[in-house]
Amino acid sequence: MSASADGRPGIAGETSESLGSWMAARGESPYRARQVAEAVWRRHARAAEDLHPLPAALRDAVAEAFVLDTLATTDVRLADGGRTEKALHALADGVLIESVLMHYPARPGQRERHTVCISSQAGCAVGCPFCATGELGFGRDLTTAEIVDQVRWAARRLAADGRRLTNVVFMGMGEPLLNLDRVLEAVSALADPDRFGLGARHITVSTSGVVPGIRRLTALGPQFTLAVSLHAARDPLRDVLVPLNRRWPVAEVLAAARDHAAATGRRISYEYTMIGGVNDTPADADALAAALRGDLAHVNLIPMNPVAHTPWRASSMAVIEAFAGRLRAVGIAVTIRRNRGQEIGAACGQLAAERIGEPPAPAIARRRDRLEAASAAALRGERSETGPDADLTPVGEPGAA
Ligand code: SF4
Repeated sequence: MSASADGRPGIAGETSESLGSWMAARGESPYRARQVAEAVWRRHARAAEDLHPLPAALRDAVAEAFVLDTLATTDVRLADGGRTEKALHALADGVLIESVLMHYPARPGQRERHTVCISSQAGCAVGCPFCATGELGFGRDLTTAEIVDQVRWAARRLAADGRRLTNVVFMGMGEPLLNLDRVLEAVSALADPDRFGLGARHITVSTSGVVPGIRRLTALGPQFTLAVSLHAARDPLRDVLVPLNRRWPVAEVLAAARDHAAATGRRISYEYTMIGGVNDTPADADALAAALRGDLAHVNLIPMNPVAHTPWRASSMAVIEAFAGRLRAVGIAVTIRRNRGQEIGAACGQLAAERIGEPPAPAIARRRDRLEAASAAALRGERSETGPDADLTPVGEPGAA
C-alpha cells in the first residue's frame, strides 16, 4: 500500500504477486513481472526508459500506473572527506525527509561497509529534545515505497562506482514502530531474495521504546536487529529525554526488549546519546549497568549532535570513556560511536530544519529554560509534571517552507 500525491502507488511497494496480478490483468505473461522486478531491484530503475527489455508500450504503461521513484528530488551534501553523504529528499507532496549514506573502509578482519540510515516518517511525534527531527513535529507516515526508495537511492549511488550496499538502519526521521505496518513491508522487500535481497541480519530497526510494537515484533519471530534508543535508565531523566517514557517507562521497555532477545536469540542494541552533564554522570552509568547486567545486550554510546535549540552539548570523550568503563566493568559490551558529518548536519532532521527556518526567538529561549530546569530536576531524581517540548513542537510540517 503505497500511494503518491496523485494516487499512483510507488512500484517499490509492490510485491512479486501484486506485480504478477497487474501483468495478468493486462494479458501479459508472468515473466514480464519478473523483468520489471529485475529492473526495479537489480538496476534500481527510476524512469520508463530504465525498464528494458520491456517493449516500449508496456514500459509506458508501467510508468503510467506506478511511480517509479517516489523521491521527487534529492539534494546531497558530502562530509568526512566523502565518507558521509547526507541526502535531503523531497517527496511528491513537497514533504522533506532525510537519509544518510555512510562508507566504512575495510579494516583487518572486516570488509568495507556501506550503510544507509533511512527515515520511516516525515518528522516525528515523539519529540526527543536532543533531536532535530523531534523539533520539527510530526508530518506524516511514509509509504512502503517511500521508505524503500531511500535504500534504492543509496544502492544506485553505490552501483555507479561498482559498490554494493551492505547495511540498512532505520534510525533516520521518525519512530519506526509507530509506522510498523509500512516498516515491516519495507523490511520484507529489502530482505526478499527476489526483490532487494539484503540479509535480514544486515537490517536494524530502532525504537525509542514503543512497547506494544516490540511485543508485536517478538511474536513475529526474528526479523532483523532491534535497537532500543534508551538514552537514560532512570525514569525522571528519561521522561525529559524521551517523552514516550511517560507512557512506557524504563522497566516496561527493558522487559519487552529482554523478552524479545530471549524469544529471538538476537542481541538487543541499546543506543545512548551522551549529553554533557545531563545523562553522563557516574550514577547514570551505574543505573544503566544495573539495568542491563546479564542481558543479551550491546550498548552504543553516541556523542550528542549539536542541536541549535537546546542548552546541551555532547559529553567530553574522557567522560564517555569513563562511562563506558563502568559498563564494561560489569561485562556489558560497549561501542563508542563517532559522529558522522556534523558539519553538514548529519543527525536526522537537521537539513530539513535548516530548510524550514528558525522558530521565533522567544520560543527558543523558553525551550532552553524549560530543558535546563527539567534536566536539573531529573538530576535530583524528580519527575517533572510537563514535557519540555511544548514551545517548539510542532514548528511546522517538514516541507512546509
Ligand atoms: S530521536 Fe528518534 S524518536 Fe526521538 S524525536 Fe528524534 S526521530 Fe523521533
